[in-house]
Amino acid sequence: MSRSAASRANRRGEPPPSPEPLPAPALDSHTHLDIVLGERPTDGHGYWPSADDVDAEIAAAVAVNVPRLVQVGVDVPSSRWSAALAERHPNVLAAVAVHPNEAGAGAADDDALAEIDRLAALPRVRAVGETGLDRYRTGPDGWAAQEAAFRAHIRIAKDRGVALVIHDRDAHDEILRVLEDEGAPEHTVFHCFSGDAAFAKACVERGYVLSFAGTLTFANAGYLREAAALTPVDQLLVETDSPFLTPMPHRGRPNASRLVPLTVRTLSEVTGVELEQLCAGLTATAERVFGLWEK
Ligand SMILES: [Zn+2]
Repeated sequence: MSRSAASRANRRGEPPPSPEPLPAPALDSHTHLDIVLGERPTDGHGYWPSADDVDAEIAAAVAVNVPRLVQVGVDVPSSRWSAALAERHPNVLAAVAVHPNEAGAGAADDDALAEIDRLAALPRVRAVGETGLDRYRTGPDGWAAQEAAFRAHIRIAKDRGVALVIHDRDAHDEILRVLEDEGAPEHTVFHCFSGDAAFAKACVERGYVLSFAGTLTFANAGYLREAAALTPVDQLLVETDSPFLTPMPHRGRPNASRLVPLTVRTLSEVTGVELEQLCAGLTATAERVFGLWEK
């Protein structure tokens, strides 16, 4: 067991065993492999996961027919790490940003935004995100800085011609307002979609893409299943947000990309789209939004 795997076992426990593979290739539109396998060294402690551990985790996803991953940065160091992984690994594309909660605390300064802009121009960085508004963890004092950073990220995504990946926590209407005001990029994704059917309808009408996470499988998430049911497959994505939001029946344990099949199966039941056809549709949506993974 490597140093990082040992630490992971000590701290969070191992992710659950892999489910049955999907019958056709699907994807994970949003993962944080650095957090799944390591301890982000932003405060001088912690470490980045080893290449061997990262490769093993990706191989486990490929083994259940999840060969396409989007690795998402949440600050400048993890965005750099994400871009470098995508450059090195054919199964990974990257998204780069300063997360809304970091931005609310003042982290999205001019230097940070200049670095996000530089990274967003790299060939395998295909999205700016996660960015957006978080009215749950960030208090009112941080809202102005958070919104300014969101607007700056929208402009970077449009300048660089890449997708926008949105983090929306208790801020549905405010996010629609900012998108309308700035003008949304061609491809705008609501990561870990958390709204009800009415909000899903508003997003679908505007051409946005809804990415559903393991929360879709939770017993108390009927509103999410209603939202997913009315979303056309060409505006539908699936994700883990690993190591968070682990799908049932493993809620509470660490998440990993190889658990995506659990959420895809629920999505198939909810939408009534046959599983193999749904996998093909999700992949087609992902390739339209993020471009091709193949080098
Ligand atoms: Zn995330």
